[in-house]
Amino acid sequence: MTLNVQHDVSLKPYNTFGVNVRARRFAEAFSDDDVCEALAYSTRHDVPLMVIGGGSNLLLTRDVDALVLRMASRGIRIVHEDCDGAIVEAEAGEPWHPFVLDTLAQGLAGLENLSLIPGTVGAAPMQNIGAYGVELKDVFHSLTAIDRHSGELREFVLADCEFGYRDSLFKRQPNRWLILRVRFKLSYSATLHLDYGPVRQRLEEQGIKEPSPMHVSRAICAIRSEKLPDPATLGNAGSFFKNPLVSAERVAAIKLTHPGVVGYPQADGQVKLAAGWLIEQAGWKGFRDGDAGVHALQSLVLVNYGQASGEQLLALAQRIQADIFERFGVALEMEPNLY
Ligand code: FAD
Ligand code: NAP
Repeated sequence: MTLNVQHDVSLKPYNTFGVNVRARRFAEAFSDDDVCEALAYSTRHDVPLMVIGGGSNLLLTRDVDALVLRMASRGIRIVHEDCDGAIVEAEAGEPWHPFVLDTLAQGLAGLENLSLIPGTVGAAPMQNIGAYGVELKDVFHSLTAIDRHSGELREFVLADCEFGYRDSLFKRQPNRWLILRVRFKLSYSATLHLDYGPVRQRLEEQGIKEPSPMHVSRAICAIRSEKLPDPATLGNAGSFFKNPLVSAERVAAIKLTHPGVVGYPQADGQVKLAAGWLIEQAGWKGFRDGDAGVHALQSLVLVNYGQASGEQLLALAQRIQADIFERFGVALEMEPNLY
């Protein structure tokens, strides 16, 4: 028995919003055995299990009446290699960005655009993390998860995961799959994705004509650090709303009053609107109500200036949603997982 179950634990250090709610039970899983023990504990004590990684995509609005299990398993290994590349496996509790740097240091390309995203490897498939034109699904090989209903292990390949924009089967079936480890298909010859936002421009400004994946990673880290608040100093969960997919007719209607509306046409005819642009146009950028606010540099990010509760952050999010719907006829969907 290795699982150390603590009682009545503050979750403030375990969520990047820094919201101070308490967990009825709390434990960390360093191995598959710990996970199995936690599942057994949950059944034995009739207490639900809530799995977390880095807590960077969570909004906790109340005390958690559950056993909160923080994934802390570590390990990175190459499970297959040929002259083109390698399949790299990482345990769920591995912190994401150091894992990205580890693969780049091994000369493997593929994860560079996903640099500096907080959180853990195990949570990354949950919302098919994405940034700068690359999503996890583009480099995903397979994963191992435990079915919390039956206790059985299951392997998932790409076709099983139903990855979508900030979405997956795992997100749509909450509390069913506990991801233990993930494998990525990475390459020794890089196909770089530079045509997104200011990435290429940043590399050119640095005089880098033939960038390596590591150059791209460093450029993206620099861009992100300038724009996004660091949760270590200002509580946040990254983008609070997904970029909405709307019809071309809706965009045309918005253009009548806002000719500068920012939208990206999709293959299916819909248009992805920049939610941050809508929120900024509506005047919310830099707004603050008590300790809950909208970041002054990036209006897609809600921030906790110190003592905001999850309920206050949620109330602000709902005010923004209502306002955007009234002004633009667009429903904004929250991205973080709400508890
Ligand atoms: P948590 O917040 O701990 O958990 C998220 C969800 O996954 C919860 O529902 C939890 O129950 C579940 N979960 C966690 N681990 C497991 C597991 N092993 N098995 C099953 N379920 C699990 N996201 C992006 O997509 N792109 C970005 O560019 C990006 N930038 C960000 C920038 C900042 C500053 C911040 C704060 C967040 C950003 N995010 C971004 C959001 C977030 O970092 C990612 O979604 C990340 O993958 C969450 O990982 P986590 O370990 O913190 O998950
Ligand atoms: P940005 O570059 O200011 O762009 C604003 C929005 O427009 C982004 O959300 C992005 O959508 C979209 N966009 C920009 N260029 C695009 C293109 N060429 N094709 C299609 N869509 C385009 O965004 P940012 O806020 O600084 O973030 C940069 C990247 O990091 C984005 O990919 C963003 O998703 C990601 N990020 C995510 C989070 C999170 O918590 N989820 C937090 C910070 C940053 P997409 O979001 O669909 O890419």
